[in-house]
Amino acid sequence: MFQKILIANRGEIALRVLRACKELGIQTVVVHSTADADAMHVRLADESVCIGPPPSRDSYLNVHQIVAACEITGADAVHPGYGFLSENAKFADILAAHNITFIGPTGDHIRVMGDKIEAKRTAKRLGIPVVPGSDGAVTEEKEAKRIAAEIGYPVIIKASAGGGGRGMKVAHTEADLEVALQTARSEAGAAFGDDAVYIEKYLQKPRHIEVQVFGDGFGRGVHFGERDCSLQRRHQKVWEEANSPALNAEERARIGGICAKAIADLGYSGAGTIEFLYENGEFYFIEMNTRLQVEHPVTEAITGIDLVHEQIRVASGGGLSVRQEDIKFNGHAIECRINAEDPRTFTPSPGTITHFHTPGGLGIRVDSGVYSGYKIPPYYDSLIGKLIVHGRNRVECMMRLRRALDEFVVDGIKTTLPLFRDLVGNADIANGDYDIHWLEKYLAKEE
Ligand code: ADP
Repeated sequence: MFQKILIANRGEIALRVLRACKELGIQTVVVHSTADADAMHVRLADESVCIGPPPSRDSYLNVHQIVAACEITGADAVHPGYGFLSENAKFADILAAHNITFIGPTGDHIRVMGDKIEAKRTAKRLGIPVVPGSDGAVTEEKEAKRIAAEIGYPVIIKASAGGGGRGMKVAHTEADLEVALQTARSEAGAAFGDDAVYIEKYLQKPRHIEVQVFGDGFGRGVHFGERDCSLQRRHQKVWEEANSPALNAEERARIGGICAKAIADLGYSGAGTIEFLYENGEFYFIEMNTRLQVEHPVTEAITGIDLVHEQIRVASGGGLSVRQEDIKFNGHAIECRINAEDPRTFTPSPGTITHFHTPGGLGIRVDSGVYSGYKIPPYYDSLIGKLIVHGRNRVECMMRLRRALDEFVVDGIKTTLPLFRDLVGNADIANGDYDIHWLEKYLAKEE
């Protein structure tokens, strides 16, 4: 087991990882920018190292400083959290070259899945169902038209290097396609330094369903069931649930089994998420994330398994603490992402939190790094906390969520809490009847 883990992240996830380390009796080092000197994870860590000024590229993305911090403090492993360097293959390689363990998969696995064209090709080879579309990058308009005619309109043009919901264009007709292809390529080139784009069928009313997988480091793969993250705004997840209200136990076992086998065949090690769109009973792979996800706590709630403990165990060579048959799904869990944003316009609302009071009681978990008097710096993501609620079934979970949202107090800034208070009373949400466009349509109506 590791002696000392360096946490290369900030906010709620830094605290989340820190908690797991403390439980496992592992010493912790956190790195932080000058803007985060007062952050909770800095206060609670055994050691902290200031690695630079506020902009992420000078601090949380500064590989040299982070490696230096490992060497100064004698950390033997790095947990990257999500975002920042968590899916940076070069970072994983550099740590390996310094004999520091990256708590995550190998640089090569990150590289394959980071390139969406390559990821889709790999998924197909491993027997994972994919969205119909081009086999690789598409550059010629003629070829694009031929493929689109074959799969049928509407189609979506996606950047191979895309991420965070950026670099996508939908074409409804052949006339749209020309412009969509050109804009997608130039936007991808400008945003990612790589103008490779590919085409796939645009699914009209899918749900976003993702499977949590783990490779144990010894060639075995398991799945921890799925999460439904269909409630999105601008391709960003807002509310996540486990299990999906749309799947039954057979479908869960079927897609989970396909994913677990793929992970084993890939020789993958650590946590991963295989993301699908789901429509008319069919799954279509869209991408794989080679890291811990923001929404992992809903899986923890229904399985009772600490996924960060498992990541640390696997990375240290100790394998998983559970076999597939030990993973049982109990009840239902929902996570609300609480952002420091205006609940209508979603414009960021940094500033000082004058009062912060979190709900409690059975089945309630709040993962947050903020506190009363905390000043939210304007430089980073607006996520200030996650409310995760568990119940014996979805009805009980929703009842408890409504009560928990009423108890939650965040004063001094605007947050997305009012949005969740509206959603929890909505009939479609109560029925679990929504697709990936539901929230955008709902917000448009409310305006
Ligand atoms: P990113 O890596 O940028 O998050 P993804 O490929 O995961 O990109 O897609 C993000 C979101 O875009 C999906 O959750 C879905 O809402 C939408 N999307 C992606 N591909 C399709 C498709 N073929 N049809 C319909 N919607 C899609």
